[in-house]
Amino acid sequence: MRSDGILGSRDAEERSKWLKRKEIWLVVLGVILHAVYMLSIFDIYFKTPIVHGVDLVTPRFTAPAKRLVLLVADGLRADKFYEPDSEGNYRAPFLRSIIKTQGRWGVSHARPPTESRPGHVAIIAGFYEDPSAVTKGWKANPVEFDSVFNRSRHTISFGSPDIVPIFCGALQHSTWGSYPHDFEDFATDASFLDMWSLDQFRSLLNRSNEDSKLKKLLQMDNLVVFLHLLGCDSNGHAHRPFSSIYLNNVKVVDHVAESVYNLVEDYFKDNRTAYIFTADHGMSDKGSHGDGHPSNTDTPLVAWGAGVKYPRPVSSSNHSDSGFRFVDDHVHDSPTPTEWGLHGIERVDVNQADIAPLMSTLLGLPCPVNSVGSLPLDYINMSKAEEVEAVLANTKEILNQFLRKSYIKQSHSLYFKPFKPLSHYSSMLDKIEHLILSKEYDAAMDLSQNLRSLALQGLHYFQTYDWLMLMSVITLGYVGWMLYLVLHVLQSYTSLPGNIFGVEQAVQRNHHRKIYLYGCVVTAMLSSLLLLEHSPPLYHMYMIMTSFSWVQIFSEYRFINVLWKHLSGRKVNIVIKLLATTALSVFILEFLVSVFILIFSNLVRL
Ligand SMILES: [Zn+2]
Ligand SMILES: [Zn+2]
Repeated sequence: MRSDGILGSRDAEERSKWLKRKEIWLVVLGVILHAVYMLSIFDIYFKTPIVHGVDLVTPRFTAPAKRLVLLVADGLRADKFYEPDSEGNYRAPFLRSIIKTQGRWGVSHARPPTESRPGHVAIIAGFYEDPSAVTKGWKANPVEFDSVFNRSRHTISFGSPDIVPIFCGALQHSTWGSYPHDFEDFATDASFLDMWSLDQFRSLLNRSNEDSKLKKLLQMDNLVVFLHLLGCDSNGHAHRPFSSIYLNNVKVVDHVAESVYNLVEDYFKDNRTAYIFTADHGMSDKGSHGDGHPSNTDTPLVAWGAGVKYPRPVSSSNHSDSGFRFVDDHVHDSPTPTEWGLHGIERVDVNQADIAPLMSTLLGLPCPVNSVGSLPLDYINMSKAEEVEAVLANTKEILNQFLRKSYIKQSHSLYFKPFKPLSHYSSMLDKIEHLILSKEYDAAMDLSQNLRSLALQGLHYFQTYDWLMLMSVITLGYVGWMLYLVLHVLQSYTSLPGNIFGVEQAVQRNHHRKIYLYGCVVTAMLSSLLLLEHSPPLYHMYMIMTSFSWVQIFSEYRFINVLWKHLSGRKVNIVIKLLATTALSVFILEFLVSVFILIFSNLVRL
């Protein structure tokens, strides 16, 4: 090792001490920088879509149903539900008879992460939670959100202690119950959990014969009954979805659906109940769920009862969903498997969050304020005029979210870029009203659906509004960090113009001070801008890290200048050697930093 270099006259021992100190500092700085930038994932991908202060839209049509029963078979994947067993017998005879004689069916596509909480939130509240909600606990709501249950007159719910309290725990107008956690014993056949929910509901109905208050409650309109059936999920995890225990559990949920249907019809005797049977997510062959594989995202959906259309034979003109991209990002153009034995009956697939506006519309309730689902009209039996009103209510709810997000962003931004395609939304609304008045329902429907898809695009626009700025700041920061490392390597491990500065130490220190001062001023100005825009604290951190690494580079301005002059006079192969040395050194440093990051993130996880 040379004893000269940037330190000029220092001896070798002192120089190696200095180098060691500087490299420890570099590793520490690298770890901090990578850790801060890693947090940006929370601002880019894990950003909650919920916005508060959105106005409700009161629908202008009569409710097709007086009450609604929602059955969710946790972890039931579509193919195991629809296909026959090895002997050709179908596992869900009751629900199949419904599909064939009085209801509608399809596959409901869940969006990853295919977990219980986001799945139920999509079904009941109509929006896709950001993945970070999974880490924030299952029972408590990390963020308050609206749901179909909130809008109901009363909700009755039985099921898992991990699911039911999410929606009913803080709901005044609800009657609910869940079993103790130790019931979820994975070692035994968990289908008894499904029977537990059914038994609770049955005994509630029986109790109402002696309890006049309860009887009155049950007779009210806008009543929702939600039974959560955990059996398939527990059995899928413990025994995998090919096991006889899981497959037998499909028969159990079919039995529960049939029993609930008979109980409700016998009790109310008014044909005013709508029924929805679905699942929160599927189950992979390995007995897990969470990712975007079709075995996890494809779940069954069967709807029937008051307000639901009857089955329709498949014709070439009414098969519209081929090639449509669903929320799980799969293009579903594969035909329905023939072994399902349902190819003659029209199948209507939906995105999971579409179930929420479907339930709201069946009950004639406003859609949950943060719902982003599109009402699946093929499920609903309404007149043309009412269909338009239902789609318009759904559209206005999404538009209200868009307007609220736009307003909040605008009031915080110094330079606001509006979402242009919706700048004339009010004239579009006026036109729709005009078309409805003149009974041009098809045109009104087209315009409403068009407005809804624009509003959804607008929501996406604001969800990703800061992405360009964030990604630019972070990329700039990483580039700065790499350049800083390159400069360090050139100064410390090569024989490049080291002693140039030896005589100018004092001048150089003065120069450094100036650069740092300018850096501080610029950082403070940028920080004030972020403060004025009400940016989250982490935005300041990204910006500070980026400007810090660039200040480091600018402080070596004189070295860069000399280096440039030096290199431009050299042969090409020296430059190549230099680049190779630099690349190797940077790689080693980055490797060190990555190891630290790995240790750090493991510690955080613990
Ligand atoms: Zn689940
Ligand atoms: Zn599970």
